[in-house]
Amino acid sequence: MKLLENKTVIITGASRGIGKGIALVLASHGANIAFTYSKSVDSANDLIKEMSKFDVNCKAYQSDAASFEDSQKFVDQVIEDFGTIDVLINNAGITKDNLLMRMNEDDFDKVIEVNLKSVFNMVKATQRTFLKNRSGSIINISSIVGIKGNAGQSNYAASKAGIIGFSKSIALELGSRNIRSNVVAPGFIQTEMTDKLNQEVVNQWISGIPLKRGGTPTDVANLCLFLSSDLSSFITGQVINVDGGMLT
Ligand code: NAD
Repeated sequence: MKLLENKTVIITGASRGIGKGIALVLASHGANIAFTYSKSVDSANDLIKEMSKFDVNCKAYQSDAASFEDSQKFVDQVIEDFGTIDVLINNAGITKDNLLMRMNEDDFDKVIEVNLKSVFNMVKATQRTFLKNRSGSIINISSIVGIKGNAGQSNYAASKAGIIGFSKSIALELGSRNIRSNVVAPGFIQTEMTDKLNQEVVNQWISGIPLKRGGTPTDVANLCLFLSSDLSSFITGQVINVDGGMLT
């Protein structure tokens, strides 16, 4: 059974990693996908080619999620191209890790802008459509680091914790209009973002995971599929971990 037939889904930062995994799984369930990328045109085009097997509409847009103006323009263009929006997935994110002692102001500001302000930008830009439709599912990708904290990632943890407070507030504000807002908190998921870590750190993460493996983009995508679909129509304001039991 296809769960997302005729639904239009926006995903930010889907040219690789978790975003790409989400795009592929949702398209396999019939969703039309509008996704953004920041720099890599080639990866974006590769994904569009890969998606052609699903017989859905798929379009890539170069757009900086940290920019309020870009986000408005992007969403206006999606409405023009696809007609409507049913699901918003805020996935774009970066890290600029350092101990506080060595973290400079730009490292902090940039991570907050790309990870947290982007969520504000995109929810602002899509809310009129959701209100008009009296329907919408907003899925914000946080991290277990936003729940637990992590030494060397105070900027990232603050941005990801901010997403949780923002999402719960939006769930309260927009619930009466049938607009849902939930958070997905991945644990250690093996992507280009985590490929930057050295093997010793990776082994350390994995040894602390009850299921004794890193997650895959598909593990995260399957939860996004559920939250995008009507199967989750009574679920809002939640933070759901995809972490192999790491925070248990
Ligand atoms: P990644 O670095 O592989 O991919 C990030 C994506 O975001 C890329 O497509 C990139 O182009 C895009 N992006 C970055 N800055 C952008 C901007 N300003 N505007 C638009 N797009 C932008 O990372 P990933 O591992 O796939 O992570 C995806 C999300 O999941 C992030 O929000 C990350 O914080 C979160 N997350 C990842 C892990 C993990 O272990 N990989 C764990 C928890 C949470």
